[in-house]
Amino acid sequence: MAKKEKKGITVKKDENFSEWYTQVVERAKLADIRFGIQGFIVNMPFGFSIIRKIYEYLEEEVEEDNHEAFLFPNVVKEIDLKKEKEHAGFNPEVFWVSEVGDKKLEERFALRPTGEAQIYPMYSLWFRSYKDLPFKGYQSRISVFRAEKTTRPFIRGREFLFFETHDVFNTHNESLEQIKKDLEICNKTIRDKIKIPFLFFKRPSWDKFLGADNSFTPDTVLPDGKRTQLASTHDLGRNFSKAFGIRVENENEEEEFVWQTCFGPGISRIMASLISIHGDDKGLILPFDMAPIQIVIIPIIFSEKDNKPVLKYCVDIEKKLKEYKVKFDNSENSPGYKFNEWELKGVPIRIEVGPKETKDKKITIVLRTGEKKSIKLDSLLKEVEKSSKLIDKNIEDKANLYFKNKTKNAKSYDELKNIIENYKGFIKVPFCSVEKDGEKCANKLKEETAADVSGTLYPKEDKILKESKCIICNKKAKHIVYVAKSY
Ligand SMILES: [Zn+2]
Repeated sequence: MAKKEKKGITVKKDENFSEWYTQVVERAKLADIRFGIQGFIVNMPFGFSIIRKIYEYLEEEVEEDNHEAFLFPNVVKEIDLKKEKEHAGFNPEVFWVSEVGDKKLEERFALRPTGEAQIYPMYSLWFRSYKDLPFKGYQSRISVFRAEKTTRPFIRGREFLFFETHDVFNTHNESLEQIKKDLEICNKTIRDKIKIPFLFFKRPSWDKFLGADNSFTPDTVLPDGKRTQLASTHDLGRNFSKAFGIRVENENEEEEFVWQTCFGPGISRIMASLISIHGDDKGLILPFDMAPIQIVIIPIIFSEKDNKPVLKYCVDIEKKLKEYKVKFDNSENSPGYKFNEWELKGVPIRIEVGPKETKDKKITIVLRTGEKKSIKLDSLLKEVEKSSKLIDKNIEDKANLYFKNKTKNAKSYDELKNIIENYKGFIKVPFCSVEKDGEKCANKLKEETAADVSGTLYPKEDKILKESKCIICNKKAKHIVYVAKSY
């Protein structure tokens, strides 16, 4: 007899989030961490099916916004990487390729830690006239490589899944418009389809991407209270076009440097947030459209004599549902075992069929979000349609309520310190400045509480009262900022 693996989750999400997360990733077969090189994981079919859905949503939206897909190599020249470093200070832990066979390469190259240094040298060859712009390009279903010290499946890895847009414009205004469009893409995908709530921040100047004039990020909070950045979009100004020589001739036949933006949703972090925010003590919970298996049919058989008609009825039901992703679980395992397994994997709808249902031409439907009812076979399609909407609504409501409770206010530094001890989420506070002169206060905050200034809300900042004082230095406060611990 085959060894039965332990299926269920043995800890409560509220009591031990870290262990809960590890068990869900492993037991729902999302990723296998036994690959053998630290920080490199195998995305297993069930998990990868969900990740592909995230990619599909993003591809659909950026193409709707006139982006064209391209595909660059996974490597980058040393000289281009250096150029980026000199200019933007970007200095990740780089993996170098320096040998081929037993011969040392004359010019080593790197596994790409990000896209700019490999894409922008090519952009300097592609555009000649202002009429060539705007240009909007993207690549999807690719990786970048950084030798991170601590790694955790989907949260931080040495190879992580990537998606990036790189847009080129004639004017700064077009760049700023694009930032708003990127925000809209986040709304339509991460918020509306994947159901992850977030706040969209303009990062403080000391925490922006170094090659950017400004950085903007949708951030959420995981159940352990840490802020996680779901994506970032950068107003690159003309910094990179100057560093990499990307110029076009304007209407007056003068050469001008172009304006650029880039946008990168963190595919793995979106995945980590989906697992963590929607899941419960039984395992995953997935929006209906994202589920690799949307409906599971489980026969409940009490005796040999019931066997045949019940199984036949199950097959009839399966045939009716051919427009959905359906699994008819006809395995030897007990019904209880099957319930646990498919709940763990977040299958949105479970159909239970026993002798009584078979005789009465009825079906018992159980939703992963808890509802249960008995329906007639004739109304099956209508009920599935209704249930799929109900599940999504339940997930969305629950996530929004969760997130609503993740923001508190603090009026004094003592109050802030008290709250931060036990509270998991954002704290809104008045702050002196999000430009360079506020960095001292941010550093003090970080040292004393381990929390960061996430930024100010964008595009509409919170209103601040005239007499407000910075929570750290007590000088006049210019902004309301959101403070949180972060990954
Ligand atoms: Zn201050």
